[in-house]
Amino acid sequence: MRYDVIIIGGGPAGLSAAIYAARGGLKTAVFERAIIAGQITVTEDVENYPGFVEPLSGFELSERMRTQAERFGTEFFDEEIKAIGLEGLCKVVETGSRTMRAKAVILCTGAHPRRLSVPGEEPFTGRGVSYCATCDGALYRDKVVAVVGGGDSAVEEALFLTRFAKKVYLIHRRDQLRAQQIIQQRAFKNPKVEIVWDSVVQKIHGSQIVEKLEVFNRKTNEISFIPVDGVFIYVGILPNNELVESRLELDTFGFVITDEYMHTNLPGIYAAGDIRHTVLRQVVTATSDGATAAWSAEKWIMENYDDVEGNEVKEIAEQ
Ligand code: NAP
Repeated sequence: MRYDVIIIGGGPAGLSAAIYAARGGLKTAVFERAIIAGQITVTEDVENYPGFVEPLSGFELSERMRTQAERFGTEFFDEEIKAIGLEGLCKVVETGSRTMRAKAVILCTGAHPRRLSVPGEEPFTGRGVSYCATCDGALYRDKVVAVVGGGDSAVEEALFLTRFAKKVYLIHRRDQLRAQQIIQQRAFKNPKVEIVWDSVVQKIHGSQIVEKLEVFNRKTNEISFIPVDGVFIYVGILPNNELVESRLELDTFGFVITDEYMHTNLPGIYAAGDIRHTVLRQVVTATSDGATAAWSAEKWIMENYDDVEGNEVKEIAEQ
C-alpha cells in the first residue's frame, strides 16, 4: 500500500499533521502503537489550549482531533512500526505484519517520562512509584504522597493529587521552582502542599509497597526520611527516538533537530511535536508543528512527484 504521507505517532502533533495533510488531499495514514495515544491522554485538564474556555480532558481533546482527521479521510493503524527506510524518494515503513510505502514521513513519536534512577524506583514501580497522577492519583485518597520535580508537570500533578491525598510533598532539588508562575502560586497557596526545597530523593524504601523516601538536602548535607504511601516522579521527559536515532540529526538530549519548516536532515522526512528539539512542549506547539510539517510535506511532494494523487514516483536523478 502506498500513501502520500505516513505519520508515525497519534498524539496532538500527529493528529494535527493528519488533519492538514488529509484535508489538503494527500492520502494519509497514521500509525499509533497505543490504543490511547501520547502524553496528552494522561493529562487530566487541558486549560491552556486556545478556544476551550472550560478545561477539557486530554483524552477528549485527542479523541476530537482523531475524529476530525478521520473526517478528512485519514486512515489509522493501531500498530507499532518496527523499522523505517528513510532514504531515497520512496520511504518504507514496516510493522510486524505489513510493509507500507510513502512519499513523505512525519515523525511524531513524542517523548516519555525520565526515570529518577535511584534504588527502589524500579522494584516499586506500580507498587507506590508512579509516573502518572491522572492514572493512579485516586488510589491515594486520604494518604500521603510525594511528587519529585519542580517543572510544570510536577507542580500541576502535585496540585491534582491534593484532590485525593491528605498531604502532598513536592520535593525539588533547588530553592526555586521551574514551573510557570501561575502554577507555582497555586501550589504555594494550597495548604496540602509542602515543598521540600534543595532536596533529592536518593532511595525509595519499603517492603511490599513504598513506605518512605530517603531524602538528601543538598544545602545542609542532611539525610531525612519522609514516610509516604506513594511517590510520583516528574523529572522531565526523554525523546522516543529509537526508530531514527542513528539516521537523523539529534540534539545532545536526543531530540530531533528540524528547521522552522519541520525539515529534518533527510529529504521528505519531517518531525513535529515533543520529539523535536524545541523550547516549548505544549499541545498548542505540537499541533502547530504538525500543521507546518504537513504543509512542508505537501510542498515537497508537489515538487518531487508527478502528481499528488498518482502513486508512481517520478523518475528523477538521485538526490
Ligand atoms: P521539565 O520542565 O524539564 O522539568 C523537570 C523538573 O525535574 C525540573 O524542575 C528539574 O529540576 C527536575 N529534575 C530533572 N532531573 C532531576 C533529577 N534527576 N532529580 C531531581 N529532579 C530532577 O519537565 P516537565 O515538567 O515534565 O515539563 C516538560 C515540558 O512540558 C516543559 O516544556 C513544560 O513547560 C511542559 N508542560 C507544560 C504544562 C502546562 O503549561 N500546563 C504542563 C506540563 C508540562 P531543575 O529545575 O533543577 O532543572
